[in-house]
Amino acid sequence: MPCPTVKPKIAISACLMGAEVRFNGGHKQSRLCSHTLTDYFDFVPVCPEVAIGLGIPRQPIRLVGSPEQPDAIGTVDPALNVTRPLAGYGRQMAAELSDICGYIFMQKSPSCGLERVKVYHANGAPVDGGGRGIYAQAFCALHPDLPVEEEGRLNDPVLRENFLTRVFAYSAWQQLRQAGLTRHGLTDFHSRYKYLLMAHNPVQYKTLGNLLGNMGQTDPGELGPRYFSELMAALKKCATRRTHTNVLQHISGYLKQAISAEDKQEVQHVIGQYRQGIVPLVVPLTLLKHYFRQHPDPYIAQQVYLQPHPENLSLRNAI
Ligand code: SF4
Repeated sequence: MPCPTVKPKIAISACLMGAEVRFNGGHKQSRLCSHTLTDYFDFVPVCPEVAIGLGIPRQPIRLVGSPEQPDAIGTVDPALNVTRPLAGYGRQMAAELSDICGYIFMQKSPSCGLERVKVYHANGAPVDGGGRGIYAQAFCALHPDLPVEEEGRLNDPVLRENFLTRVFAYSAWQQLRQAGLTRHGLTDFHSRYKYLLMAHNPVQYKTLGNLLGNMGQTDPGELGPRYFSELMAALKKCATRRTHTNVLQHISGYLKQAISAEDKQEVQHVIGQYRQGIVPLVVPLTLLKHYFRQHPDPYIAQQVYLQPHPENLSLRNAI
């Protein structure tokens, strides 16, 4: 079964769930996160600024200094420097939230932002180039493989599908790890991810296959985390119409002996329409699934690619 049965846990900036925790007592509720996704994920809301005792309302803070290593300084009172408590809380939560499968951060925030957060000189002039929020930086440094994304970027259907695919992969890995890593378990996991990996990163698919193929007597407990880090890095790369088309062609090859020449032609026609951007990915996949229901193939049936996330999320209707 490609999708795990438990709801994966996702940590999220609390203001995105509608909590009134911003400096001005407001929120930044995301409908996607607080409504659409709640049937499929358990959200863990976290507001680092409130957690370190800044209170609501509070004076806003901003990043000051170099984009690589800025400080979080009060905008009204420049003597207020909360860099250490924010970073400390990031490390604390990284240890506490060991069972999450993803994190959705609020963009532009000096605490939670992941990319291009504004950084200023002490005199208030903007510095070229953006930084990362202090809390997010400390948290992510301790969870390098965790799927993380900014809420704003989830409006892009390709990035949304990519992020949630990675969240489910992370969740599946956690379950495998809990069951105990074995050589067979690793090979089986990789085999189920074959076509998904091929769509995201064909080169890494081969490299990872070789890594496992040459495992010999290596301890799976040592090799597994290495394999998984590389898998997560590979899945970060978004699949394209070209790479999806390649995978669809491979998968349709398994029907070669099973369906008529006319049906094969229809499959090719629909894959071609997908490649040209006339129909979304769900269309050729639905047709292929229809034929595989009639002519089951055990290898294809186990492929995560066919359903990497719950069907009702409709993530492949928009890509
Ligand atoms: S962006 Fe982060 S620190 Fe700011 S209100 Fe939202 S959760 Fe709190």
